[in-house]
Amino acid sequence: MDNKIFSGETAVVTGGGRGIGEAIARNLAAAGARVVIVDVNKEAAVALSEEIGGSYVAADVSDSESVEGAVNKIIENNGKIDILINNAGINRDALTIRMKEEDWDKVMDINLKGVFNFSRLAVKKSMIKKRRGNIVNIASIVGIIGNPGQANYSASKAGVIALTRTMAKELAVRGIRVNAVAPGFIETEMTEKLPEKVREKFLENIPMKRLGTPAEVADTVRFLVSPASAYITGQVITVDGGMVTE
Ligand code: NAD
Repeated sequence: MDNKIFSGETAVVTGGGRGIGEAIARNLAAAGARVVIVDVNKEAAVALSEEIGGSYVAADVSDSESVEGAVNKIIENNGKIDILINNAGINRDALTIRMKEEDWDKVMDINLKGVFNFSRLAVKKSMIKKRRGNIVNIASIVGIIGNPGQANYSASKAGVIALTRTMAKELAVRGIRVNAVAPGFIETEMTEKLPEKVREKFLENIPMKRLGTPAEVADTVRFLVSPASAYITGQVITVDGGMVTE
């Protein structure tokens, strides 16, 4: 297999400075892509982009003006956007009746509107013109099965799944594929914060009896943006050790 399958391609990874996004950025760079990391956390993102021979562009995905500036800059510097990985995401957990409106809005703005903002502009300003493009949105299994304490987060990820399916249907004829990856519980800072008891409970429900790794999510993303998945669009692939099987 050609291990530089993405050479000459520009791949944008939002929230690429750490965690799952970092693993995706490393994976695509190793496969020859020119990776652009978009993140609000400059320090980590700059260090990583230098290490992998990519670049960093600052943007808050929830702010459409900021995203437009970033998309313009990326196209100016690289000529095009071939691959977009909408990975930036946050959680602000609380039971629904205790959830603050601002926490609902913040999670929706970053996790769902952020995907809309970046996809719309990358498609409009580059992919549609080239009649070629590949988008992968990082959803979550809780967007399929729900999770107590995560009304905002799970609703945002369900929204990401519906947006993925809709955009896939709109853009298939333009040569652009749109898929989603729904990770289960992955070893990152997001899951590190979980109390030990909660972690154990999760493990009980994972058929493989272990958390996943960011690298395992990144391998699935790489498959979805590669020619090996050329006839796949509008799909949600779960990477969860067997939890969700429908
Ligand atoms: P993380 O918190 O480790 O990393 C998220 C990155 O996104 C950070 O670098 C952060 O600075 C950046 N970011 C946050 N808000 C941003 C914004 N407004 N604009 C641009 N960048 C922003 O998270 P992670 O665990 O690596 O999660 C990555 C994605 O995977 C998220 O969408 C998350 O919902 C999803 N996910 C994670 C898990 C898990 O178990 N960790 C499970 C399912 C889904």
